Amino acid sequence: MNLLLIAVAILLFFGLIVFILLFGESPRLRNGIVGKANRALTVYIPRWIIGTLKKILGPKNWNRLSHLWHYCFESRNPFLQIFFMILTSGSIYLFLKYGLPHIPGIYLHSTHLIIIPSQIVSLYLSYYMACTVDPGTITADNVQQYLDHFKYDGLLYQPKQCSTCRLEKPARSKHCSMCKACIGRLDHHCFWINRCVGVNNHRFFFIFLFTLVQFCAYGAYLCFQIYRGMIIEWGLDAAYVIDKKTGQHSPITFRKAFLHVLQKDRIIGAIGILATVVSLVVFLFFLYQLYLAGRGITTNEAFKWELIEDSIDRGELWLEEEKTATNDKDKVKKRMDGSKKRQRKVESLEELDNIYDEGFYRNLYNVFFPPRMKKAA
Ligand SMILES: [Zn+2]
Ligand SMILES: [Zn+2]
Repeated sequence: MNLLLIAVAILLFFGLIVFILLFGESPRLRNGIVGKANRALTVYIPRWIIGTLKKILGPKNWNRLSHLWHYCFESRNPFLQIFFMILTSGSIYLFLKYGLPHIPGIYLHSTHLIIIPSQIVSLYLSYYMACTVDPGTITADNVQQYLDHFKYDGLLYQPKQCSTCRLEKPARSKHCSMCKACIGRLDHHCFWINRCVGVNNHRFFFIFLFTLVQFCAYGAYLCFQIYRGMIIEWGLDAAYVIDKKTGQHSPITFRKAFLHVLQKDRIIGAIGILATVVSLVVFLFFLYQLYLAGRGITTNEAFKWELIEDSIDRGELWLEEEKTATNDKDKVKKRMDGSKKRQRKVESLEELDNIYDEGFYRNLYNVFFPPRMKKAA
């Protein structure tokens, strides 16, 4: 089987899965085939697996497995961090052992011998920062600062207390059951860095994603150029194919020469393919994160906005108009049908304002230069 075809198929498959998981619940897609695939992946298949396992294992073993599941997937643990470190360090080691002897080469200048170590250092450093910087833990000491800075919009956020932390819940914050704390401007809990992505470490998360994308793209580029060099070194550029019937000589195509080298020297090829896949998948995620951050929405709020869109579709969202106030001071409240107060039905999402959206550049500025809050002790 053609190795390149397999690589492309793997690439498309992972891309599709990521797309389905990221966008399958969005109101526009959830009623179509993407939505169905999303429910299959997140609801039906897990339900089927759970049902089958319960039957096979019996109640005692099932309980043990649930505890293990809880530890692995529903509480903080370093598994994915270890996996990430093994995968990156292993690939780097193999590249240094098998790829580095080809540099400098026909297509690779000796400056790469300086770029490669600085790339490796920047990847580990950015990962270390993303894994260790406090995401913005809210404590009794700093809750007032958060309350002062993040105002309630009366739509996504209302004044409320966190039932676990027993503290006021500032707008844009959320309690993370894994980190066991409320996190300021929470984006999401990330298993790869084993902590939340919040107001204080969102920038490091972005820097890490960007570093990883360009690190993998650079790695894939190096592997490709090493192979191109091998084609020349092995004299494949001058090779030709003889047609058995006519006896005609025709030069070998680049694609054929490339595949020949790929099959003879598979380790660099495997690293190159892995780097390409990771680079593309993480790049998609990076773009999605950038898109949300640029619109002044966290991943958590994207979900909340979807719920709001849902209630608009069902005709259950009402705008409460203050009689004395001017139009721009409309107060928004979610109400069920039938309430007698003066209000009008919200017909579309455009009627609602995201007060946290200060424009693309300002929103990104807020992510990269967050407000200074007292740190958790
Ligand atoms: Zn809390
Ligand atoms: Zn968390």
